[in-house]
Amino acid sequence: MTLKVEQFLKSKLLDTPFLVVDLDVIAEKYLTLHKLLPKARIYYAVKANPEPEILRLLVKLGANFDAASIGEIEQCLAVSARPEQISYGSTLKKARDIARAYQLGVKLYSFDSWGELEKLSVHAPGSRVCCRLLIETQSAEWTLARKFGCAWDMAFDLLLHSRTLGLEPYGVAFHVGSQQTDPTQWNEPIHQVALLFSKLAAQGIDLQVMNLGGGFPAQYQSPIPSEEVYAEAIQTAISHHFGDNPPQVMLEPGRFLVADAGTIQSEVVSIAKKSYTDDQRWVFLDVGKFNGLMETLDECIKYRIRTPYDGSAVGSVVLAGPTCDSADILYERAGYKLPLSLQIGDRIDILSTGAYTHTYSSVGFNGIPPLKVYCI
Ligand SMILES: *Cc1c(COP(=O)(O)O)cnc(C)c1O
Repeated sequence: MTLKVEQFLKSKLLDTPFLVVDLDVIAEKYLTLHKLLPKARIYYAVKANPEPEILRLLVKLGANFDAASIGEIEQCLAVSARPEQISYGSTLKKARDIARAYQLGVKLYSFDSWGELEKLSVHAPGSRVCCRLLIETQSAEWTLARKFGCAWDMAFDLLLHSRTLGLEPYGVAFHVGSQQTDPTQWNEPIHQVALLFSKLAAQGIDLQVMNLGGGFPAQYQSPIPSEEVYAEAIQTAISHHFGDNPPQVMLEPGRFLVADAGTIQSEVVSIAKKSYTDDQRWVFLDVGKFNGLMETLDECIKYRIRTPYDGSAVGSVVLAGPTCDSADILYERAGYKLPLSLQIGDRIDILSTGAYTHTYSSVGFNGIPPLKVYCI
């Protein structure tokens, strides 16, 4: 947590729960990535946190945007991003949404199937298209496997066919899974992309870009390699597979840019034991799966938690959210321990919660409103 956030939390005792986002951290992350991979074009994955102040900051820094819907495209345009800065990167698009994006000036689209390519040829004629490759990776804490992409041979056929349909075969995309903790996971997909580039070049198609997706991690409980290690692994893979003729690289960081900038402050609603003999306390917070902490699903993302008593004796806890749904348990198996002196009514801080939190909030389940956000 930054000093700025600490002071914000101290100076105003706001109603919990809420998310506070330090925009300086986002700028710093963006500039770090830009410095480490200076030739890459950065497309912020808007879904990670579409707050207008964040988008405005990124426009100012010269970022581009990976949008997944007309709503996200409009959010980008509303903060004066130009249509040329936007990639419509979701491979699931209704025909009328493609037509609308095209009308708004968006000229870069991803796809991963014959049906989607057909739609693009009809509703976004002449546009640049990137084919998303289905890849197998490990070590991602929030996997994006299986749902997106197509096999290598299909990608080849689709890109070849895209030219016949009057589209511009522009590149290949993949995603190694979100919160990817192993920087070497980009290597094999880059190899496959390089093969596609050369096979298509033999057919007279010169692809321009390789889209490396997101996956760059945030700081949750486990240590992660530094940004330098990721950049180095990616550079090495590109040189190895493309030699001295590398393609234009696109990056689509979401989590990396915004997660560490955010802190959720929450109040302890209740502390209880299930029986007289039970050692374990149940700690119920006013934030849970339905108002911001969806990524605790299957205990995938393990946030760091700060309490007013850090450093004192701890005991094991089950952490749960405030709703009357028993799915609303955050951590039961992950081995969380919290200070024994923690009291009902105390405020705790959940760190690195700037990505994939408030937009996952339900609208009013159990009468609880979506998580409030303050950008500072
Ligand atoms: C969600 C998403 C991203 C962002 O992934 P992170 O792991 O948050 O960086 C990037 N590209 C696409 C196509 C996505 O769907």
